[in-house]
Amino acid sequence: MSNPLRVTVWNEFRHERRGPEIAAVYPDGIHNAIASHLRTEGMLVRTATLDEPEHGLTDDVLADSDVLIWWGHMAHGDVRDEIVDRVYARVLDGMGLIALHSAHFSKIFKKLMGTSCDLKWREAGEKERIWVIEPGHPIAQGLGEYIEIPHCEMYGERFDIPDPDTLVFVSWFQGGEVFRSGCCYHRNKGKVFYFRPGHESLPIFRHPDVLRVIANAVRWAAPVSGPGLQFGHHPEPLEPLPG
Ligand code: ZN
Repeated sequence: MSNPLRVTVWNEFRHERRGPEIAAVYPDGIHNAIASHLRTEGMLVRTATLDEPEHGLTDDVLADSDVLIWWGHMAHGDVRDEIVDRVYARVLDGMGLIALHSAHFSKIFKKLMGTSCDLKWREAGEKERIWVIEPGHPIAQGLGEYIEIPHCEMYGERFDIPDPDTLVFVSWFQGGEVFRSGCCYHRNKGKVFYFRPGHESLPIFRHPDVLRVIANAVRWAAPVSGPGLQFGHHPEPLEPLPG
């Protein structure tokens, strides 16, 4: 039996403390809704929030995290740049990062993508079908052909991201738009997954298939013990060179 995966669930945790209608949906915060599910999957889970010292993301916490899950929305600008740089370095060194819903505009996701990450949106409570378009991918483990979300906030294309290494999900919305909803990337040794569903006023982080995808994504994004990295000047060839 291998060691349990170590997961940190990060939430800016502002909506839930300021809006009673949001607190009614997530009384313990979005981070705890996700964390408690991942614990039932046998993972070792801690949470961290924006208003903790160093946003709860100290060097020790990051060093002790195989995967970091990120939810933010109204306070992306309050995340300190030096903490973003620290998370970025840890991702390049192998920690997985899962960006959820409005984390498309987080500093860390934009830095990892290098694009605006802008999109189209609408809050009309419409239906969403998230189609599994890469059924053999580990993140699709245990799902049906699609996930249906009865009421959602729409995100529509164009979504200004680099082409994903693997696109696992595409969403259809009742209003007619489509969206790349499950996007996998490699950044140096680290893996990044963007997953679209979720909104602070809707119980989407209680949907069993959404939670299943998040757990699958943690397993996919976890580091592997691959080779050490060699960069820079490399004057000694492995084989003798001609001449
Ligand atoms: Zn939203």
